[in-house]
Amino acid sequence: MNYTLPEFLAHAVALEREAAERYMELAELMKAHGNREVWALFRDMVHFSQLHHDDIQRRVGDIQLPKLNAWEYRWTSPPEAGGPAAYEHLSDPYNALQYARENEVRAMEYYSAVGRSAEDPEVRRLASEFAAEEADHVDALDDWLAHLRGPSPAWRSGPGSSRHA
Ligand code: ZN
Repeated sequence: MNYTLPEFLAHAVALEREAAERYMELAELMKAHGNREVWALFRDMVHFSQLHHDDIQRRVGDIQLPKLNAWEYRWTSPPEAGGPAAYEHLSDPYNALQYARENEVRAMEYYSAVGRSAEDPEVRRLASEFAAEEADHVDALDDWLAHLRGPSPAWRSGPGSSRHA
């Protein structure tokens, strides 16, 4: 994880763009299923990812960024196989939040590993800052997951739900 500044910035820009796109899809999915609250949360996450992306892009300026392989920044595939099954799975707000959380944790772990191991002090500084930001995202999703697990029966649609059966 000893990245140069251009390598690190390339990853960070790609990670934030990917997050914005995935949250956009998740927001659409919540909207299609009439879940306004989780829709609003995912819309906020789109917004934060875009702001962060634009910040990093400004930091890039005219630095030439290396090209990355998709596996270096893409989110994981949804837990279910692709196609309609994945769509159904993620239509459940609980599953969607868990899926997002899993990928926020990956981003956080990536940034903190770079923050610990890069030799370039600027890379270390930026990576630690970004890791803290991702930790905030994980916390926000945890709050929502706790909320869904909470006493309100209207929100109960966690694993084992037969709603889509
Ligand atoms: Zn994030």
